Amino acid sequence: MDRLLIRGGRVIDPVNKVDARLDLLVAEGKVAALGQSLDAPEGVRVVEAAGKVVAPGLIDMHVHLREPGREDEETVETGCLAAVAGGFTAVAAMPNTDPVTDNQAAVGYIIREAIRSGYATVYPVGAITKGLAGESLAEMGGMIEAGAVAFTDDGHCVNSAEMMLKAMKYSTIFDVPIINHCEDKSLVGGGAMNAGLVATRLGLAGVAAESEEIIVYRDCALARLSGARYHVAHLSCARSAGIVERFKAEGVRVSAEVTPHHLVLTDAAVEGYNTNAKMAPPLRRTEDVAALRKALAAGVIDCIATDHAPHHYNEKEAAFADAPNGVIGLETAFPVLYTELVLGKVLSLGALIEKMSPAPARVLGVRGGSLAQGQIADITVLDLDTKWSIDKNSFYSKSRNTPFDGMQVTGRAVATVVGGRLVWELGG
Ligand SMILES: [Zn+2]
Ligand SMILES: [Zn+2]
Repeated sequence: MDRLLIRGGRVIDPVNKVDARLDLLVAEGKVAALGQSLDAPEGVRVVEAAGKVVAPGLIDMHVHLREPGREDEETVETGCLAAVAGGFTAVAAMPNTDPVTDNQAAVGYIIREAIRSGYATVYPVGAITKGLAGESLAEMGGMIEAGAVAFTDDGHCVNSAEMMLKAMKYSTIFDVPIINHCEDKSLVGGGAMNAGLVATRLGLAGVAAESEEIIVYRDCALARLSGARYHVAHLSCARSAGIVERFKAEGVRVSAEVTPHHLVLTDAAVEGYNTNAKMAPPLRRTEDVAALRKALAAGVIDCIATDHAPHHYNEKEAAFADAPNGVIGLETAFPVLYTELVLGKVLSLGALIEKMSPAPARVLGVRGGSLAQGQIADITVLDLDTKWSIDKNSFYSKSRNTPFDGMQVTGRAVATVVGGRLVWELGG
């Protein structure tokens, strides 16, 4: 087992209210000591972190790893390598693979593949319904036993309120979150982007914000009725945030995530029929971006998740309406968010770390998010000074479908420690 001394960094640990220049000693997979001028025991590996930030490992609670079924787009291994290169020590994998992660064996397979790869920890999220078909509940109990941490039919919305209520009631036995991709299918229809001026000008069918708001409202009401823990995936519009705020104030157990692209881009990014700006829910208006930032800063939206969705470039090279939804995000999330939200004075650095580590750990009920002595040594070392240009050709992900290629950013992860092991170093 590696022993590491991460020396001289600015340790930022929001949960324990630490922000100080400290050494951090890792032994037996845990944080063994934090202090000034710690001795380097015999045989310890030293990571020099002077001038860098040492933070609890980032956790992405919403990624698509595409294995099994689309190993040409991503595998558990390449997704986990992309994760640690982006500073993420753990990710939650969505179940819309082929076959669908809707049973115990499928959950076990993903966990074993992640352990074999040896990079990030993967927490499988099981399907709510068998085959994501929306017709009968998947075997939640068996999946929990195998290591699933939450349930969703992501990629699809659970359209039936009755099915959603059933799933929520059943989930209370295990007290795990039920996550929904909130888009009323009957309103989305053939819509390819946000309904609005840009869609009209481009001659593309639009998706109204109401398609999301209706489901967010319905699900929050069902969470109140069932007492379940409910989590809104990739919340994208101003009024949805208002609905979450209202139900939270009532004491309903609801949480929400927002993606970097919904915090930074608007539907203007679709101009030129840019399929790397096509996602579900779609990029919205400037007013929505402003509202999402405000809701995130105010704690109405709990955390940031990338919805990393790899696609083969051949498929994104299609006509806009035919191209698949989704963009990758593991390797761009921190630099894009640090540049836009921290340097842009929307969030403090501590608040950004809180939204990307302790908050998702809390929502999922998993370890991590803290650097207190005795905690699991999942650690991210961040360089906040480097200015660089995002280059999709340098990604570890198998896919290249990013809307941020060529963006000038500041800051990046430079070293990632998972369970006490230094699994990735920039240029290492
Ligand atoms: Zn989704
Ligand atoms: Zn997704």
